[in-house]
Amino acid sequence: ALVKDVRFVTGGVSMGTLPTDPLPEVAFVGRSNVGKSSLVNMVLGRRALAYTSKTPGKTQQYNYFLINEGRDEGVFHLVDMPGLGYAQADSKKRKEWVRFFGEYVRQRQQLRLFVHLIDGEIGLLDTDLEIMKLAAEVSKDECRWQYALILTKVDKRKGKAKANVYASVMDAVEKFGCDIGDRIIQTSARTKLGRADAWRLLRPVVLP
Ligand code: GDP
Repeated sequence: ALVKDVRFVTGGVSMGTLPTDPLPEVAFVGRSNVGKSSLVNMVLGRRALAYTSKTPGKTQQYNYFLINEGRDEGVFHLVDMPGLGYAQADSKKRKEWVRFFGEYVRQRQQLRLFVHLIDGEIGLLDTDLEIMKLAAEVSKDECRWQYALILTKVDKRKGKAKANVYASVMDAVEKFGCDIGDRIIQTSARTKLGRADAWRLLRPVVLP
């Protein structure tokens, strides 16, 4: 297995409170209930994110997990980033979220891969468009990290409905000018679809 060990490190609440180690990092962002814990647990092969994203009040934290600590290779940070919840439409929390998010994607030197999760059952939400827009903007002049999209829960939709979700996501990618390449994958934590594809994204980052 590529992942031997996972340890929760810290929950960062601002740029100054993130780990200072120079380890490469992969960030997963998505609003609550998008299927982030299930997806990350599927990719890592264990229940790493079982608790953190569920803790009320801690949803604004960037939760850092150290993968393969002390090993010769495959050592990296996985960052579980909060999305914007439905309840935070125009609050102070929302402003804080936008500011921290902007600073993180612009300034975080360790960031290599930024994985945006979209619910494959529901499709794009306003908060997804906001993330895409900012990611596209920032990645135009920063080439430290790559942008990737994961559609979760694709087992929940079939045929035309599934194709429509995919097409609307690709429309948005085009509209915002996101540099996505072939880094868009469809996953299901239920059927384990897309696990190898997810590793195709992660491998160059964690095993350079
Ligand atoms: P998080 O809040 O983003 O961490 O989301 P969870 O991983 O906790 O998933 C939210 C809900 O969606 C749970 O009820 C999961 O069982 C369900 N879910 C997550 N992934 C899948 C999937 O791939 N297929 C289906 N059918 N349900 C899923």
